[in-house]
Amino acid sequence: MSKRIKELLGSDPDGSLVKAEGWVKTRRDGKNVTFLEISDGSCLKGLQIVVDREKTDDKELEGVTTGASVTAEGYLVKSQGEQSVEMQLEKLTLLGSCPEDYPLQKKRHTVEFLREKAHLRARTNLFGAVARVRNTMSYAIHSFFQENGFVYVNTPLITASDCEGAGEQFQVTTLDISNPPRKEDGKVDYSKDFFGRMTNLTVSGQLEGETYALALKDIYTFGPTFRAENSNTTRHLAEFWMVEPEMAFCDLYGDMDVAERFLKYIFSRTLEKNEEDMKFFDSFVLKGVIDTLEHVINSPFEHMTYTDAIKILEKENSRFDFPVHWGSDIQSEHERYLTEVVAKRPVIVTDYPKEIKSFYMKLNEDGKTVRGMDVLAPRLGEIIGGSEREWRLDVLEERMKELGLRKEDYWWYLELRKYGSVPHAGFGLGFERAVQYVTGVQNIRDVIPYPRYVKSAEF
Ligand code: ATP
Ligand code: MN
Repeated sequence: MSKRIKELLGSDPDGSLVKAEGWVKTRRDGKNVTFLEISDGSCLKGLQIVVDREKTDDKELEGVTTGASVTAEGYLVKSQGEQSVEMQLEKLTLLGSCPEDYPLQKKRHTVEFLREKAHLRARTNLFGAVARVRNTMSYAIHSFFQENGFVYVNTPLITASDCEGAGEQFQVTTLDISNPPRKEDGKVDYSKDFFGRMTNLTVSGQLEGETYALALKDIYTFGPTFRAENSNTTRHLAEFWMVEPEMAFCDLYGDMDVAERFLKYIFSRTLEKNEEDMKFFDSFVLKGVIDTLEHVINSPFEHMTYTDAIKILEKENSRFDFPVHWGSDIQSEHERYLTEVVAKRPVIVTDYPKEIKSFYMKLNEDGKTVRGMDVLAPRLGEIIGGSEREWRLDVLEERMKELGLRKEDYWWYLELRKYGSVPHAGFGLGFERAVQYVTGVQNIRDVIPYPRYVKSAEF
């Protein structure tokens, strides 16, 4: 039976006969020997296969070029090179040849070029490592919550509610958009649409998540999220994965505590399980990324209120493109200043002005700020956004009125506050932002297999 290359590389070079399967990464022809490196994605390194050409029929090596798929049988022996083991070939079988126009010939490619070859890029060192780290992180997310008694809940992807109220939603419709049914006033008649109303792809599972938290206490969601972000940034996708825990009988302090323990847990797991991949990122993607993560894991996060953060930032207004004052949004450059210059570690900013946060955040006694929190990470900025939810029916209704939100649209959300309401809190982690942070990969488009963003949905 064939073994994964990772397993073979970790075995004793005991001369046993083994079989490996994979794609040829490189081929080097010497005078009497040919060296092949084959890789099967199980780890960063490939297995070196030594072909003694005196013993091998030349035909066997025909068509065995970079990118070709092969199975190789041979003896696992001690390697002369940097690796501990290599295979002394007995029998090579070519499965799929790979002509010269293969775009991933052995040389360095830019990530921009590879984005156009997204169907092949997982075969490169970089994208293979990203995929393995992404896998570990997904699993760690589930492990963290499962070990802490949270229930995994699947919230709908098609929804009629707009959680963030930001108008960044993709519409879902089966109407003929070139000729939709219209009402007398000329507006589109959505009662004729598939769901009998206007629907969108979800921008967050939070509201539905809250309903389950108010029954099961601690829940989390982990699923796709869609935002028609019309911004060309290195940290926004139109389709991304979000992790959203929600905890009943929990306030903002409990929320921040879970957020911090959660991030540290998934970072540690990845350093532990993907040592080789992480070393690769550290050498070729972002120098020092391992140290940064270790530092994050070992130091308590800094806490500051929005008001204090603004006080600090205002003094430095001359250095910012967007000077701040109380009431302004904290933007990327400010987030970086707070984390990289002021705290030199992640910072949790709390108690934002209500005007710049969502309607569902709990209003503070001052009537001006809300119990929201953002976790900001050095070099990335916002990685988590969360809050204690407004659980008092009258205050929530008042807030919605101020914002012009219609009670009818949120009737079920409001009923949660009517029937056995409790303090509760939660947060959302953008999964790709977390992968970006851990790997040091600069652009979010390179940490998801098939990125969707403005003007791009190929594959
Ligand atoms: P930002 O200000 O960075 O756009 P946001 O305030 O819109 O973020 P939230 O609505 O709080 O973010 O969403 C929760 C989390 O989801 C964010 O902290 C971030 O990690 C992630 N996130 C938000 N929008 C995107 C996006 N377009 N692509 C990838 N991740 C995102
Ligand atoms: Mn946003």
